[in-house]
Amino acid sequence: MKKEKRIVLMGAPASGKGTWSKVITEKYALEHLSTGDLLRKVREEDTELGRKVRDYMDRGALVPDDIVIGMVDDLLTRGEAADGFVFDGFPRTLAQAEALDIILERHGKSLDLVIDLDVDEKILIDRIVYRRVCSDCGQPYNLKTAAMRPKVEGICDYCNGRLIQRSDDTEETFMKRLKEYHDQADPLLDYYQKQGKRVSFSISELTDETRREMFELIEEKLS
Ligand code: AMP
Repeated sequence: MKKEKRIVLMGAPASGKGTWSKVITEKYALEHLSTGDLLRKVREEDTELGRKVRDYMDRGALVPDDIVIGMVDDLLTRGEAADGFVFDGFPRTLAQAEALDIILERHGKSLDLVIDLDVDEKILIDRIVYRRVCSDCGQPYNLKTAAMRPKVEGICDYCNGRLIQRSDDTEETFMKRLKEYHDQADPLLDYYQKQGKRVSFSISELTDETRREMFELIEEKLS
């Protein structure tokens, strides 16, 4: 199996993208590259670029392709993630996907795999609608999942804080976010399907068994 792995992880909100990124990067010693995290750092800078990024992010809009592509190009050209990466939140547009191919090609490399976390919509909705968070320490709970319920109803197990439902954790708001995700992601998934790089992983829960299945999938594709 190839040691270096260049992977893009795609998935709707609440599909477990953050969790799986961590699991995969730890297993194969890859770099976790989240453009959302990188841009959150840039937006804090008191520079023209920082202000521009802040303006887009505050409106919930995508940051323009040239900024994001430039940032990724710098990163990969500096040799960061030379031993492989898992991209999370990038690419978000076809222009970004094409640019990533070109940047990698310039370095004599290519993307290996695009994992599509294709979780059933009903499961995603339950994750959001039954989600509660502690108003003091932020600890997440889920009333639908036995292992994630608080010991005492409405009270945080760790700090005794009050559990609340976030105002945007409703089915209506979530369905809007889901549609936005599909509008962005579906053309990209088609692009990678045509390149033969897309694989779907429709399991949502993280268990020893599903972790093994994910590793088997990656190793089979990259053997
Ligand atoms: P995320 O943490 O991935 O949800 O990203 C948070 C915000 O950062 C998004 O709402 C966008 O404003 C911006 N962002 C992150 N990644 C990208 C990207 N690949 N292209 C454009 N904007 C992005």
